[in-house]
Amino acid sequence: MKVANQKVTAERLVRDALEKAKHFADYNIFTFLNEEGAIKKAKEIDAKIARGEKVGRLAGVPYALKDNFLSPEGQTTASAHILEGFVSPITSTAVEKLEAEGAIMIGRTNMDAFAHGSSTENSYFGPTLNACDKNCVAGGSSGGSAVAVALDIVEFATGTDTGGSIRQPASFNGVYGLKPTYGTISRYGVVAMASSTDCIGFFTKTPDDMDLLMDIASGQDPKDLTTLPDYYGLANVSNSSFETVSREPYEASEESEPRDGGRERTWSRMENCRIGIIKDFDNESVRPEIRQALKNKIESLKSKGHEIVELEMPTLKYALAAYYIIVPAEIASNLSRYDGIRYGFRSEKAEDLNALYKNTRSEGFMPENKRRIMIGNFVLSSGFYDAYFLKAAKARTLIVKEYEKAFEKCDFILTPVSPNPAFKLGEKVNDPVAMYLEDMMSVSLNLAGLPGLAIPTGKTESGLALGLQLVGPRRSDKSLIEFSKELI
Ligand code: GLN
Repeated sequence: MKVANQKVTAERLVRDALEKAKHFADYNIFTFLNEEGAIKKAKEIDAKIARGEKVGRLAGVPYALKDNFLSPEGQTTASAHILEGFVSPITSTAVEKLEAEGAIMIGRTNMDAFAHGSSTENSYFGPTLNACDKNCVAGGSSGGSAVAVALDIVEFATGTDTGGSIRQPASFNGVYGLKPTYGTISRYGVVAMASSTDCIGFFTKTPDDMDLLMDIASGQDPKDLTTLPDYYGLANVSNSSFETVSREPYEASEESEPRDGGRERTWSRMENCRIGIIKDFDNESVRPEIRQALKNKIESLKSKGHEIVELEMPTLKYALAAYYIIVPAEIASNLSRYDGIRYGFRSEKAEDLNALYKNTRSEGFMPENKRRIMIGNFVLSSGFYDAYFLKAAKARTLIVKEYEKAFEKCDFILTPVSPNPAFKLGEKVNDPVAMYLEDMMSVSLNLAGLPGLAIPTGKTESGLALGLQLVGPRRSDKSLIEFSKELI
């Protein structure tokens, strides 16, 4: 990652990124470009460097922010009409931490409205185009963030992953995308989709950049009581400031060194690992190119001395159904706050208060948002709660247990991210079930709270990016990133 220093100014880095963002305007990546704000911040960092003052580990690094992270810079709309005009009075913890280290947000990225979707076609601002083929979708919901990194506009971008929204667009565009263990990064100040599966994560070009960002962004936050204790044992979070204290890295190998503000670290190789392959995923619904990419990686892992373990995980076939009950239920609850009174857009057509609520929500939500509100309220309704929500919750427990059992037999699991590479724009947008099926390999991790890293794995003959997903037990995020280097 290029960091500002005596030779390269932060202003240069930021101006270059902004220029590239404009150059690629036809991809529809950004919902807002932070020109003034970013250049002002860059100048402040350059002045610090000129005075010889200490700057952060991300000094002057331009990054892209998914449009569902709250910050006062630009409107936070989650790419939804109903949030149009909403300027946040608060800053999300993740943004605060990144910017405390000197990172500079150059723009907000396009996404499926409220993160509902797998293609970024559900955005109020129209779709983002795929970095490898402009006729194809960027993936979603964090499509803009993935393409911003893939086209090299920024060094990294933020994302949220409730059921695959980081890993799938990462794999569709050929970059790294990490969905950490649930609770690793604070969700404070991020527009909620489904609170029990929402995770904050990143898109990067290398595993080392991912490692650094996780080091910075993770840790317990008093403003999000689901956050877990330190990821690396480095971030010391208090309510008002994020200090960095020096401690040994989590699971440090002999050759690794404690962080010292940007010095290159060397990992010792992870040897003789047991890699699980899920037999149930090797079937006709997965495109041959993806199965082949998986086979090639299996051979290469074997030749590096790792052991391949075949896993039978029959419960995973229920993950998609359970996900599309539990997640809409939580969505219906989380979206009830958008009433036209408190945030953003308000319908003009309002003869009384009820009509104001109704018209605001009817005009402000996208069709996919409405579909999920309907499904969510249905599965939670008194007549159907036991038949749907409760059953899905039980299936979720079985999935958690199935993964626990699997990780007794292996250290990591390698699977496709999705059954297909990027599909054509418009191909699935009117067929919700076909769109939901795209998520069949990603959602189980969210239900179980496990970390998953999408790893770029080459291209198809027609030039589309391919990705594989490395899954680890809870809290194995660091080892997962480390092991991904075995797959390069
Ligand atoms: N594609 C999945 C969905 O539509 C995941 C979305 C997400 O992770 N935000 O629910």
